[in-house]
Amino acid sequence: MTDTHLFDLLERLSSLTRIWFRQHPLLADLQPIQLSALMYLARCNRYSNTPLAVTDYLGLTKGTVSQSLKALEAKGLLVKTQDAHDRRSVHLQLTDSARALLDALLPPSFLADGLARMGEQGEQLQGLLGELLTQVQRSSDVPGFGLCATCRFHRTVDGQPFCGLTQEPLDAGDAALICREHQPPKAA
Ligand code: SF4
Repeated sequence: MTDTHLFDLLERLSSLTRIWFRQHPLLADLQPIQLSALMYLARCNRYSNTPLAVTDYLGLTKGTVSQSLKALEAKGLLVKTQDAHDRRSVHLQLTDSARALLDALLPPSFLADGLARMGEQGEQLQGLLGELLTQVQRSSDVPGFGLCATCRFHRTVDGQPFCGLTQEPLDAGDAALICREHQPPKAA
């Protein structure tokens, strides 16, 4: 029989995370998809905070995501702003309330505690899972959404981070955000 051990482990951790979110008192009024959209928008850069990018990231239909974004707007958790160069395009910004909510939730305490108990092995595990994700993205036709610092277009120009794809300077914190245009470095 095919070895499903890794899949079983990931599935169990995902299941525990879903249960933890479902039982959290701060999330009583938020549907799982709405929380997923908020978590994505908190982690993505300015090239990736559009409704289409949220749809691609979550792998759901445009209609479903659109309804969820409207609900989040109505709850005062996000605002839409028009793109400075393209009037047809909008960007989604989290409000202070949304950021405070995510700060209180993430990372889930059960996961952080377990990782802390692993000590150095916890650090190694995170590195290995990151490498696994890179391998999957490299070999499959899946949207990028990788960490900016690990992108083949990431440069440093005059001591500042710079995007070689858009030819624009990046903000200091952008290296730690995810991007829909991300491309992993070419395999050696
Ligand atoms: S360097 Fe790559 S990941 Fe970073 S903003 Fe540019 S395209 Fe996106």
